[in-house]
Amino acid sequence: MGVRRQLVDCERRAALEGWEVVERFVDDDVSAYSGRVRPAYRRMLEEIRGGFVDAVVVWHADRLHRQPKELEEFIDVCAAAGVTRFASLYGDIDLGTADGLFMARILGAVARKESDDKSRRISRKHQELAQAGKLAGGGTRPFGFESDRLTIRESEAVVIRECAGRLLAGEAIRSICFDLSEREVATVSGGAWKTQTLRRMLLSGRISGQREYRGELVATAEWPGIIAPAATSRIRALLADPARRTNRSARRYLLVRLLRCGSCGETLVSRPRSGGDRRYICAAGPNFSGCGHTYVMADTLEQFVVEAVLYRLDSAELAAALNGSASDPDTERWQQEIDQSQGQLDELAGLFGRREIGLSEWQAARAPVEQRVTDARKRLARLTRTTALIGHLGNASDLRERWASLPLTRQHAIVAAVLDHVVVGRGRQGFNRFDPARFTPVWRA
Ligand SMILES: [Zn+2]
Repeated sequence: MGVRRQLVDCERRAALEGWEVVERFVDDDVSAYSGRVRPAYRRMLEEIRGGFVDAVVVWHADRLHRQPKELEEFIDVCAAAGVTRFASLYGDIDLGTADGLFMARILGAVARKESDDKSRRISRKHQELAQAGKLAGGGTRPFGFESDRLTIRESEAVVIRECAGRLLAGEAIRSICFDLSEREVATVSGGAWKTQTLRRMLLSGRISGQREYRGELVATAEWPGIIAPAATSRIRALLADPARRTNRSARRYLLVRLLRCGSCGETLVSRPRSGGDRRYICAAGPNFSGCGHTYVMADTLEQFVVEAVLYRLDSAELAAALNGSASDPDTERWQQEIDQSQGQLDELAGLFGRREIGLSEWQAARAPVEQRVTDARKRLARLTRTTALIGHLGNASDLRERWASLPLTRQHAIVAAVLDHVVVGRGRQGFNRFDPARFTPVWRA
């Protein structure tokens, strides 16, 4: 549940009551459970103490207090300031009555117990399973194993041994991955290997018969290993080496600011998964106002968008659109400015050439004119957006060949010159493959 939604709900409730909203307090990155200081909450208490508040609307009472101590403090502050109106979207509590106070205390205690029990139960169970080396959860069959997740599938195990060996011999994951694709070695889902998938598999304790808990190897697993545990240790050390990582951290995101969530309209942000897979997501939570429901893996989407852009560069529509914008009055104005300034520069050069002015005079006179030309060129470029596209229009096959060698900023400029944004629809549950139907490009011009 996004904080923004909660705020909207609370404001609606305040409006229903006919209350004027004097202030909104949001501690969206600090849960009431955590016991950590919540600055906005403290500020709210001060406002109540100061007598600036007549009523408090909260989305759910458990958003406000999880610690009984906090609830008691809240009750005291409200009582002292004469605030008795306390609305929540899930049942109101009148803090002015003994019953109301009783209710608030009970709710607080129940909420707290629930949250404690739940998290303790879940993590204890997972930890116990892990320490016993047991399987946890379901999901897709791991590569190298049958669907019981315990029996080795030899046809895939040879691939794992080969990849681990090549990695430890110094080969780059990317290159191993490329080779697997060439040989049409399929992943569990039948698709081609991606570097991040291969990397994650090689890092996993599973392939050496070890059980992980929160990324740490905690026990010998109940299934056999395909490679030796020592090999996993070496692989982990190798891939954690910063010298190898530089390449990976330099890999950035081509489509920043160009993707919009189909559900809520927010701009997606780049956020890798903990395994390192590059992703774009509609971010909810601290400092973000997205819905938190839209995710898309970066690699395939980027390839798809680049193809679409290259196709678009060859299209007659785009050429026409750009020609059209080149004839508007502002464009002519900046073009004239460039022509005139260029004329002045020629004149000045002539004067200098004929020794009618000296070198320093020529340089001094030239500088402001040159600046005008630069400015006018920039404005012109912004108007027509052709700078990024010069030479590429109608010539996409050449660009396609050189694409991978272009720096990211250049790639981004070309994409952004053609594409306004892509609307990203929500993924289908359990559908892991790339689904082009989710993406609607909105072209510029
Ligand atoms: Zn969204």
